[in-house]
Formats: sequence, C-alpha cells, structure tokens
Amino acid sequence: MDSEKVNLLDFDRAAMTAWFEARGEKAFRAQQLLKWIHQQGVDDFDAMTNLSKTLRETLKAVAEVRGLKVVADQKSPDGTRKWLFELADHNRIESVYIPEPERATLCISSQVGCALNCSFCSTAQQGFNRNLTTGEIIGQLWMAGRLLAQSGVRPVSNVVFMGMGEPLLNFDNVIRAIELLQDDFAYALSKRRVTLSTAGVVPALERLAEVSDVSLALSLHAPEDALRDELVPLNRKYPIREVLRACKRYVGEGRRRVTIEYVMLDGVNDSDADARALAKLLRTVPSKVNLIPFNPFPRARYRRSGVSRIDRFRDILHNSGIVTITRKTRGDDIDAACGQLAGDFKDRTRRRERLAVQVIGGTT
Ligand code: SAH
Repeated sequence: MDSEKVNLLDFDRAAMTAWFEARGEKAFRAQQLLKWIHQQGVDDFDAMTNLSKTLRETLKAVAEVRGLKVVADQKSPDGTRKWLFELADHNRIESVYIPEPERATLCISSQVGCALNCSFCSTAQQGFNRNLTTGEIIGQLWMAGRLLAQSGVRPVSNVVFMGMGEPLLNFDNVIRAIELLQDDFAYALSKRRVTLSTAGVVPALERLAEVSDVSLALSLHAPEDALRDELVPLNRKYPIREVLRACKRYVGEGRRRVTIEYVMLDGVNDSDADARALAKLLRTVPSKVNLIPFNPFPRARYRRSGVSRIDRFRDILHNSGIVTITRKTRGDDIDAACGQLAGDFKDRTRRRERLAVQVIGGTT
C-alpha cells in the first residue's frame, strides 16, 4: 500500500467519471472500473482485462484499491462474524456480518469512535477520534465481500449504518458511500436494503431527505425528553418532537416507515407507562418499533430488561396498533451485538470534549 496514491474506493461514480475525464479517458471506463472493484472484488489492475494496457499502467502508477487490514476475524456458531479492521493511521474499527434466513446484513461503522456519548453505548466510552473516509466506509463492505467469498459464505444483501459512530455527523462521506451502495455499477442495493440509523441530528436529517432515499432508523430509546436527555445527550439540542417531525418529513406521505429503535434498560425506560407514552408519541408517525435488549459491556451502568418485561412492553405497543419486534441478540459470544462495537484508537480525550460541546451545544 502506498498512501501517496489515490484510493479508488473513495470515488463514487460521479467522482470516478470526473477523474477519468480529467485524464482524457471516456466516461464508460469509470463504469468498467467500478464493476471490477465493487462487483468482482478485484484490486489487481492487471486482471482488469477489458481496460487497455496503457490505462492499466497509468492506474498502477497513480491509484490503488486500498482495502482494510484485518486484525481480528471472529465467528460465532450462529454465523455472525465480526471483523476488527485497522486503518492506514492504525485506528481500528469494527463491522459485523449477520446472516438470517431472508437476508445477510453487514453492520458498518461511519466514524472512529463517537462524539454523542449515549450512556448505554460502549462506543461512547471510547470517545471520538475522526470521521471515516468514503473509502474506509465502503472498504468494510468491499473487504467483507472478498472474505465471505473466500469462505463460500452468502454475500451481503443488506447494509445498516449501525456500527460505530453517528453517520449524519459524517454526512458527505456517508452520502458518497451510499451512492456506491445503490449504484448499479457497484453494489446495486435498493433503498430498502440500506438503512441509516441516527440519534437524530435534525438539520442533517433534513439534508438527507434532499439527497437520499435510504431507509431510516431512529434511536429513540425514551418516550419523553427528560429521560432521553440522559440516555442520548444529543436530545438536549434536538428534542423528541423536532426529531420525530424531521423523521416524518423524511418518510413522507407514502407507505414507508421509520424504524424506531428502543433499547430495553431494566427499570429505566421499560415500564408499562413508558410503553403507553411511546405508543401515544408514535400515533402520528409512520413507524415500526424494534426493541433491542440492552447488550452489556464492561463498566456498563445498566442491566437488560427481563424477557417477560420486554414481551409485555411489546404487547402494549402491539395492542396500540404499532408493529413491534424484539431484535434477536446475535453473536453474543463475540461481543458483536448493537452497542458493543469497540475498535481501538488513541487520542481520545480533549477532542472528544470539544466535539461534544460543538455537537450538543455546550450542554454536556
Ligand atoms: N449513531 C447511530 C448508529 C449507531 S448505534 C445511532 O445512534 O443510531 C446502532 C444502534 O445500537 C442504536 O440504536 C443504538 O442506540 C443501539 N445501541 C447502542 N448501544 C447499545 C447497547 N449497549 N445495547 C443495545 N443497543 C445499543
């Protein structure tokens, strides 16, 4: 790897086309190259036989497909697989592959760490380091594709931005990655197969509605502001009412729904009254609810709600006409569940505080 070279994983179709045109090459070359890289998983320019020898030589001189280094590759008996990837600057991020009967989902990270400091999330404990580049975001899928093919495992059919980081705080790079996820010359995933999960960055949600149509998940976790302020400090800046209004606008009038994520924390947000308040709150929001049993991690200050409590909470929502499912916890043995993605990086103290102030508006 040579970091002086352009990383072709950073380019969506528009950027790749512009790059080729600037070199006096035809636009369709960009499409051929995208297919080699993203559909065939090829990084060796010599293998790209429909490109001219001269073009291949040029590419070799100035560009590369910069994959991520696999530091750990853990497999759970239920088929869940977790990768720890190392980036060129030695920061580390995690991605998780989750096979299910109907689909195979890759959960990807958008930042190294996270600045939002949600009290129940393990990534938060490490603070924030930096945004991932487009190439590092899409690189997780590119690597997964190659590694899964090597082991003869079903390819990824769905991608969720539910790994480390807040995707809407890394807007431009995430949007370019989404372009590639949906591009027919790259991953060709439909809008139903790509889900962006957010804690609710309202202005960015409004921008997202203008440039993208991917499925939306909102990490709500509480039916009223006082409690949500505690669990998701970003709520102090963008309270529930504003966030839900932005979500409603995003899904529009059609048949699409926003997925409401709700982590079940024993004795904190899981009472019958909470369920009823949530049902009331969601009455006018086209939504379905995913209850996520809390996944513990070292030094966590919460416990997971009991099974019967979760069932009761689900039934109350269900009886109010809200489609509700309890998310199965997968890959428990390899700490691959929601909120357990850790990675590993340095430089996490002052920066995190500065960012929290910027993001949350000085209220933390
Ligand atoms: N920043 C984005 C995406 C990352 S988190 C967001 O907030 O949506 C993906 C999901 O996992 C979120 O719903 C998050 O609230 C949830 N989560 C985080 N920590 C968790 C934990 N320990 N147990 C269960 N779910 C958790």
